[in-house]
Amino acid sequence: MTSDQRLVLIDYARTAHAAHDTLTTLDQLAGDGDFGDNLCEGLDRVVAELEARPGEPPFAVAARVFLDEVGGTSGPLLGLLFQELARALANGDDHAEGGGEAEGGGDADDDAAWRSGIREGLAAIQRVGEAEPGDRTMVDALSPAREALEAGADAREVALAALAGAQATAALRARRGRASYVGERAVGAPDPGALGVALLFWSRAQAAGL
Ligand code: ADP
Ligand code: MG
Ligand code: MG
Repeated sequence: MTSDQRLVLIDYARTAHAAHDTLTTLDQLAGDGDFGDNLCEGLDRVVAELEARPGEPPFAVAARVFLDEVGGTSGPLLGLLFQELARALANGDDHAEGGGEAEGGGDADDDAAWRSGIREGLAAIQRVGEAEPGDRTMVDALSPAREALEAGADAREVALAALAGAQATAALRARRGRASYVGERAVGAPDPGALGVALLFWSRAQAAGL
């Protein structure tokens, strides 16, 4: 069963709200405290747009909202991620790997599209933001997720890899973004953007029923 893309985004909005205060506190430690608001307000607009325009591909809606309307460094970067996911999900990438049901009840087409979408989305984020793994950004959650997808992991394993990557940022000193201005202050707590993007993979696993 292909996980419904709308359900992924609706669950992502719900999960982001549940994490809002944590994300705010983390961004207060390391930055300006607006990440929880940026993510939640952006996802609320996405959910409203999904209802208003049911015919539009869900991740294309998310891309448009985050690229055009969401502030902070994270808004446009997440917009790029959604844009590449929209493209891959529309194409049913990677065609070369073939279709059919994957073992473990996954959906090979959906897995391939996420593999391609996250690979291209991460590449776009790194082109624009110039962050490498270990710089304490959302790249530290996306990069292990990409590796897990490329290793053929199921949606739950991918989500766990993203979450572990986000948690591991607690030990890192920021080299990109606003958090790089505060030096050691945020060490010990994870990067809000990494945690926020890890929740997307969690919602994908939820929507797939895993
Ligand atoms: P701002 O710092 O402009 O207020 P947000 O609070 O919306 O931006 O987002 C902060 C998050 O953005 C950080 O936690 C980090 O994960 C991510 N981020 C910041 N700079 C970069 C970058 N150059 N590349 C990738 N992600 C980044
Ligand atoms: Mg901020
Ligand atoms: Mg800000």
